[in-house]
Amino acid sequence: MDTYLHLLRSKGFKLTPQRRAVIAALEACAPFPTAQDIHRHVKTQAPDVSLDTIYRNLTLLIRLGIVNQINLPGRGGGSVFEIVAGQRHHHHLICLACGQARCIDYCPIVPHELAQAKEQGFTVVSHSLEFYGYCRDCRTAI
Ligand SMILES: [Zn+2]
Ligand SMILES: [Zn+2]
Ligand SMILES: [Zn+2]
Repeated sequence: MDTYLHLLRSKGFKLTPQRRAVIAALEACAPFPTAQDIHRHVKTQAPDVSLDTIYRNLTLLIRLGIVNQINLPGRGGGSVFEIVAGQRHHHHLICLACGQARCIDYCPIVPHELAQAKEQGFTVVSHSLEFYGYCRDCRTAI
């Protein structure tokens, strides 16, 4: 929790009880909980917290680079989340059949080669990239 506290403080934010609860839920429900999973977990401690509040806190934590959002096309366009603060930048393999995500320690993006972004006067601060395919279990089932 100290890592997150420092990260939030360094960007001028406080570790509010809500943010702490969302981070704790992300850890408890790891790997890859949905916003609904996080909401369910936080509600056991704070029954009044709304799903909107969870989304608001997640959005801030994503902006601060503490949380990563992974888009899953297989589950009706849902998203799952993971804590990335203090971890190496990485990407994900997503199975189109079962919707499961896996971390992969690989990044093909070289930010300074994004010439078109520079031409447009656009400053890139982050990116997300998912690889879609079939996991071992689903591949053999096809
Ligand atoms: Zn699969
Ligand atoms: Zn990951
Ligand atoms: Zn990358």
